[in-house]
Amino acid sequence: MLSIVISDTNKLNVQDTDFQKKIFHSRLTSMSLNPSSSSIVVDSTASTEASYARGRLAKLELSDGNSLYAKLVVGSDGGKSQVRELAGFKTTGWKYSQNAVICTVEHSVENYCAWQRFLPAGPIALLPIGDKFSNIVWTMNPEESSDFKSMKEDDFVKAVNHALDYGYGSHPKSSLPGSAGMFSWLRGNVTIFANESFEIPPKVTKLASERMAFPLSLMHANEYASKRVVLIGDAAHTVHPLAGQGVNLGFGDAFALSRIIAEGIAVGMDIGEVSLLKKYEAERKLANMTMMAILDGFQKAYSVDFGPLNILRAAALHGAHFISPLKRSIISYASGEQRPPLFS
Ligand SMILES: Cc1cc2nc3c(=O)[nH]c(=O)nc-3n(C[C@H](O)[C@H](O)[C@H](O)COP(=O)(O)OP(=O)(O)OC[C@H]3O[C@@H](n4cnc5c(N)ncnc54)[C@H](O)[C@@H]3O)c2cc1C
Repeated sequence: MLSIVISDTNKLNVQDTDFQKKIFHSRLTSMSLNPSSSSIVVDSTASTEASYARGRLAKLELSDGNSLYAKLVVGSDGGKSQVRELAGFKTTGWKYSQNAVICTVEHSVENYCAWQRFLPAGPIALLPIGDKFSNIVWTMNPEESSDFKSMKEDDFVKAVNHALDYGYGSHPKSSLPGSAGMFSWLRGNVTIFANESFEIPPKVTKLASERMAFPLSLMHANEYASKRVVLIGDAAHTVHPLAGQGVNLGFGDAFALSRIIAEGIAVGMDIGEVSLLKKYEAERKLANMTMMAILDGFQKAYSVDFGPLNILRAAALHGAHFISPLKRSIISYASGEQRPPLFS
């Protein structure tokens, strides 16, 4: 199948040189799907324009002045998707009263592991990106985020190391029922059993990028598909980053869409046909809404600082972390490989 990518970023890492030629480094500015036949003069020699006039192609206008025609437009243009807006898909959602401060940091040694620590105001994650660099995603309330974004670099690095190491408390010790360590649960810290050692990530030595703060929200498109347009990834849904599942949900969409398109091609269907695209919508809407409800529930559970609830959620997180099949099934469900974690 011939595919063309429109991207306003030069950071796409595509090895295939033939495919590279199909990438337009430009911005989508407008899209028309339903031409009014009176406004189009159909020249029998201009077959593309004629197909567009008959509703068999969508027309895309780019910021560099080029126009493209396509049987199917896949909107994978992120949470502020222009494809979604131009197609007229409405969304439902809400803002969390939390921001994420993100940046890249450097260590003195290579970090091979993704780390996350749940703090009272929200989780901090340290995600390795190769060499001695990691990305930080630190969730906190909006006032704190502007302080952490603007504080001196040295102070920020100290604050990150402190949060990853002590996380507003001493290292948790035993959390076995009946032991004194039980109280670490009451503070909402990550807990460990007595025979497990508490590990800390490699120290951050300096900032390697500017700091940015993003407001966090949940957003879900009411529709993913109409004739010749379909949404995948953040264009269709955005979730709280606390479980790091945003990318997996997008992969799940991409796998499902490519399979359904292949099934359509196999029986000679037009890949922009709404009946085909609605199959994708039905499959992924159910999967995405289930995962969004689970993640929103996590976010809400972690927003309440109430002793007994802290105990329950620490136990639940601990269970999910150490019951490997459950942990694996949460991840594979998000990426579309199987049914909901607790029902498979
Ligand atoms: C603070 C934060 C932390 C996160 N942490 C994690 C995490 O730890 N793990 C995880 O799995 N997920 C995380 N996510 C979510 C994750 O980033 C997204 O789910 C994922 O990037 C979505 O991929 P996407 O390709 O759908 O959209 P995007 O990554 O947003 O990509 C959209 C692309 O489309 C381009 N584009 C936009 N408009 C146009 C246009 N008009 N024309 C041409 N190109 C256009 C953009 O430049 C961009 O390159 C986090 C999100 C946030 C906000």
